[in-house]
Amino acid sequence: MSDRPYIVGNWKMHGTRAMLSEARAIDRAAQRYMKAEVAVAPPYTLIHAVHREAEQIGVGAQDCHPGADGPHTGDISAAMLADAGAKFVILGHSERRGDHRETNKLINEKIESALEAGLRIILCCGESLETRDAGEAEAFVLKQLKASLPKIDDAAERLTVAYEPIWAIGTGRTATTKDIAAMHKAIRGLLDETYGEEASAQVRILYGGSVNPENAREILSTEEVGGALVGGASLSAESFLGIVVAA
Ligand code: PGA
Repeated sequence: MSDRPYIVGNWKMHGTRAMLSEARAIDRAAQRYMKAEVAVAPPYTLIHAVHREAEQIGVGAQDCHPGADGPHTGDISAAMLADAGAKFVILGHSERRGDHRETNKLINEKIESALEAGLRIILCCGESLETRDAGEAEAFVLKQLKASLPKIDDAAERLTVAYEPIWAIGTGRTATTKDIAAMHKAIRGLLDETYGEEASAQVRILYGGSVNPENAREILSTEEVGGALVGGASLSAESFLGIVVAA
């Protein structure tokens, strides 16, 4: 695993070509500020354009279909993403699990397909507030991961896990650093079990959920936090770079 913190912007369903100027500004700053590894996941329609603009930052997607070419109107395969210039894909985001009823099994199929296409993976997991209040957050997250982690040999090399408590996404509420550290430790334990300690050590575990330039330093210096998956604050170069610099 690289020691550099991995700061990834998830633009979600935001952005037209007017956003390319933000991507350029992020890229220019990332060239000067090499301490962090910086990436953005724009909507499908901007992947190729951001890829063409970007010299330093990684460009990725927010989802893919689990299969190869075929009669799937409106879907995009992992191979198409790679062809458009994507280097990674975010899978299992809670908004996809919620909006599209994605199951752990489907997410696992998407991961296998994306690895096959040569992409890196950011696998998201995270519990609802009810689950946390019931004291079941850790068991829930580990169950999600057990059911979706890829089992193939070199998978760990291209895997990143993002812990994103659902109640912290877009709400301005973040988990406490104590809770983040405890969850990341539990995830590390599962990765050790699944891939062995050496391979597991290559997997970064990101935190996501209302990360902003003000709270980034504290969150990013928490034990086992290898970076951040950033939604709202990644939509302007200024706030996103505030997080990059705090890393
Ligand atoms: P947020 O989103 O930073 O707006 O909370 C994070 C995410 O959903 O990845």
